[in-house]
Amino acid sequence: APLSADDIDRLGWDKMDGLLPAIVQDAQTAQVLMLGYMNREALAATLSSGFVTFFSRSKGRLWQKGETSGNRLALAAILPDCDGDALLVTATPAGPTCHLGTPSCFGGDGAQGIGFLARLARIVRDRAAAVPDQSYTARLLAEGTPRIAQKIGEEGVELALAAVSRDRDGCIEEASDLLYHLTVLMEARGFGWADVTARLAERHR
Ligand code: AMP
Ligand code: ZN
Ligand code: ZN
Ligand code: ZN
Repeated sequence: APLSADDIDRLGWDKMDGLLPAIVQDAQTAQVLMLGYMNREALAATLSSGFVTFFSRSKGRLWQKGETSGNRLALAAILPDCDGDALLVTATPAGPTCHLGTPSCFGGDGAQGIGFLARLARIVRDRAAAVPDQSYTARLLAEGTPRIAQKIGEEGVELALAAVSRDRDGCIEEASDLLYHLTVLMEARGFGWADVTARLAERHR
């Protein structure tokens, strides 16, 4: 269960000399962003401020990630591991988490695999503010739900036709078109992958 301030004393501080490793994961894409260390004060500050705060051994003080760069990590939840000596922190980053300018300290230019769908949704949201002439996504969003719904219908039919008449790569191409337009539709109608995956998981129980 997610950690609250009342749980702090139950963690394995003693065996870890007061410092627990904290893995930070993007709450939307599940990409691993960075590793830091928290003492009791850093954990309490994270919970009370809502922004991920570490104890920096090199600085010798509490360090709120993003305090100078602005790339703060808005806390979603903290999950202790099985024996309470490590923390998994889910958060939403305001910008690149690594000081080298990449989203993750572990390299790569962003979430891969299934997590890329969440990253795509974020890109689509950003395009809502773009100039329609310069962005197909911005234009679709400006034209509104009826136009997006029409594209969903077209792409759905194209995928159905590809499924029975084209090769595997053709199916991948049309599935990609459909998922992209679905991402735009979700943005237009105000829901996202988290809502859909939660509904699917509910049905699975
Ligand atoms: P920031 O917390 O983003 O304002 O960055 C302040 C300083 O903390 C940087 O100049 C780096 O020295 C260090 N720093 C920032 N982000 C990281 C990170 N993800 N991992 C390790 N050190 C970092
Ligand atoms: Zn453990
Ligand atoms: Zn880094
Ligand atoms: Zn298509």
